[in-house]
Amino acid sequence: MKDFIDNLANGEFKIAFCNSCSKKIWPPSYFCSNCFAKTELKKFETVGTVLEFTTSHINNSRGTFGIVDLAGIRIVGAICGDILYEGIEVRMTSCGINSDGSVYYDFEPSTNRERERERERIRAKRLH
Ligand SMILES: [Zn+2]
Repeated sequence: MKDFIDNLANGEFKIAFCNSCSKKIWPPSYFCSNCFAKTELKKFETVGTVLEFTTSHINNSRGTFGIVDLAGIRIVGAICGDILYEGIEVRMTSCGINSDGSVYYDFEPSTNRERERERERIRAKRLH
């Protein structure tokens, strides 16, 4: 869906909603999978829950990646933070299109408490 990709390229995360039955359509489509009416892109929830995650040690793809549930839709993204667990709340910090055309979504723990724990952990690492 070109409009979806254009929004992503501008760092905006919008998904399709049906104009008739209000169903959210994921992956995005111009038509509703339920009633076939036209859809419209709208801003969507960017705070969600980590369902699963793993760390990659592959060259050029290092980092932690996971599946995040955003109010019922699931996307794969990079997740910052060493203190991660299934069920942690994260927020999308950015999204966009890489130079090779691939899509990216970046997340970090969403609460001040989680971010503070992360900073403490980094400080503790530096002391050792
Ligand atoms: Zn519909």
